[in-house]
Amino acid sequence: MYIKRLPKFEYRMPTSLSETLDLLAKYGEKARVFAGGTDLLVSMKKRENVPEHLINLKGIAALKGIHYDEKEGIRIGALVTLGEIEHSKIVKDKFCALWDAVNVMASPQVRSLGTIGGNLCSAVPSADTAPPLIALGASVNLTGVNGERSVQVENFFRGPKESVLQRNEILTQILIPNPPQKSSGTYIKLMRRNALDLALVGVAAYLRLDPKRKVCSEARIALGAVAPIPMRAPMAEQILVNQEINEALAVEAGKAASTLCRPISDIRSSLEYRCSMVEVVTKRAVMDAYRRIG
Ligand SMILES: Cc1cc2nc3c(=O)[nH]c(=O)nc-3n(C[C@H](O)[C@H](O)[C@H](O)COP(=O)(O)OP(=O)(O)OC[C@H]3O[C@@H](n4cnc5c(N)ncnc54)[C@H](O)[C@@H]3O)c2cc1C
Repeated sequence: MYIKRLPKFEYRMPTSLSETLDLLAKYGEKARVFAGGTDLLVSMKKRENVPEHLINLKGIAALKGIHYDEKEGIRIGALVTLGEIEHSKIVKDKFCALWDAVNVMASPQVRSLGTIGGNLCSAVPSADTAPPLIALGASVNLTGVNGERSVQVENFFRGPKESVLQRNEILTQILIPNPPQKSSGTYIKLMRRNALDLALVGVAAYLRLDPKRKVCSEARIALGAVAPIPMRAPMAEQILVNQEINEALAVEAGKAASTLCRPISDIRSSLEYRCSMVEVVTKRAVMDAYRRIG
């Protein structure tokens, strides 16, 4: 596709959320916010978006930082970069499915600019942070002129590049509950090459074991890049719950996950290949999450 220079725009850099919301109210459809710009500026060069006013969120301190609390879990500001998450010890130790995801995203340069908030708000089916956040039971806070609301990440997406986020709302932070004892998660991304590629298939698995009976008491499987939105695979989860996890069961869960996917065929992969790979990658993700608990 022919990429042009950036179109002309008026640049704003507010330092508070209220100032940002005032600008959005003033300019309406003519304004767009951005964080790292790694998605939006590219789409502007392709003329998919031509906002007259660009509002840079990176001056808003309240949207930055990673805060961990043993009771509440982890709060990640929308402006936290993928690189900051990659270098966070608490994310690596406790929320490893998310850590897995940022480690296979883009390049170091893009990770140093691109944010977790921008990845979710871009709402593409292959957004890599979405499946692990869904599997880990995360929610997002959205703030607009009428106040703040909380939405589970699994209910955030509506369709390709569409979410429940309103034009006059800002995603402020992501909250992931503290994982209980005897639980763990993983994210596996299948790509055409080992780096700098979008997912052909992405699967996140989260498992919790019953400490007394050794069976799985809770399972969440989330799929990316194989449907119009990142989504859970409830049929695969049901196969695992109340059972002892083993390879044969993980194979069954993989089969169930692949019956749910509705991918497209595109330049990167055919529909059939994606569906059969969902089966394989789900099985691997379940077994990896299980081994991590051990
Ligand atoms: C070379 C390259 C490789 C890439 N590889 C990957 C990859 O492997 N996996 C992947 O998932 N993505 C990939 N991406 C896409 C992109 O880098 C990520 O989605 C990144 O996380 C976007 O974050 P950002 O801060 O740059 O978003 P921006 O471009 O700043 O914004 C993206 C969208 O979100 C909106 N937005 C941003 N922040 C907020 C907020 N807080 N509240 C409300 N709306 C907001 C903007 O209006 C815009 O519509 C790649 C991009 C490039 C250029």
